[in-house]
Amino acid sequence: MVHDRGEALRRMTELLRTGAVMLDLTCPICGLPLFRLKSGEIVCPLHGKVHVVSSEEEARRVRVDAVIEELEELAATRLSALMREALSGEGEEAVLGLMVKWLDVIERCRRIRSVSSTGQVPQKKIGKGKQ
Ligand SMILES: [Zn+2]
Repeated sequence: MVHDRGEALRRMTELLRTGAVMLDLTCPICGLPLFRLKSGEIVCPLHGKVHVVSSEEEARRVRVDAVIEELEELAATRLSALMREALSGEGEEAVLGLMVKWLDVIERCRRIRSVSSTGQVPQKKIGKGKQ
């Protein structure tokens, strides 16, 4: 899990070491302090690049987007577990029914995101799989 205190601390230390400056602002998603990189970008230690929100409404939208993203990830995890179950051949019909439900969840998540997307939910996570 990425919401880990140790991991957060490790990343914050990493940011400071690279010359980033801790700001008097917090991430709208996790509440951690934000950092300004040398490049001028503002990032959260856990969520990467964030857009600093100016209103409570905007903050709420960003939080909702994050929940939807998390739900989509959960659905993908459940779906892959169900796929393994289906391969074992036991109760295939019931498994298929559940798979369709989770697929539905994913589809809805995507639809919601494509409608409400503010472009403010960070896609990149610092320190992992950096290209
Ligand atoms: Zn954050």
